[in-house]
Amino acid sequence: MQPNVVAYNYPAQTDGYNQPQDQQAYQQQQPLNQGQGVPLGYPVNQQYAPVQQQQPFINGPVIIQPIIVQQVRRANADGCQFPADINCPYCQKPVQTFIKHKSGCHTWLACWLLFLFFLPLFFLPFCFEECQDIIHFCPNCGKKVGKKKYKMCC
Ligand SMILES: [Zn+2]
Repeated sequence: MQPNVVAYNYPAQTDGYNQPQDQQAYQQQQPLNQGQGVPLGYPVNQQYAPVQQQQPFINGPVIIQPIIVQQVRRANADGCQFPADINCPYCQKPVQTFIKHKSGCHTWLACWLLFLFFLPLFFLPFCFEECQDIIHFCPNCGKKVGKKKYKMCC
């Protein structure tokens, strides 16, 4: 009778061993259903999806920042070739500078080079505004607020 009992117990154990597998399979399906109600079985991809969505949020403020920088007026017009919109450091008002041309070091240097090699044209650097320094002035208080030097070799 004992062998029969053992023979009957084996199928009973296998049935009992299969039940935990069914329970494990059922437990694996439960978190999928609890995830977002979509039983697709891709919880790993759903976890990576929010990470990919955060990158546009990071790039968002980066795009906005240059717009803010453009709205901020400069304190001086150094290096500007044309009249520039600045906040005057003297009268603290937003103004557009007016420019004057003045012969600088490189203007005289160009003049001397022309004097040595092309004597009849030595005066040309003083005639062209492109060959002279650019001085920015505030139209409100009249003070110098910037300068762009003329350089022969840019
Ligand atoms: Zn001013």
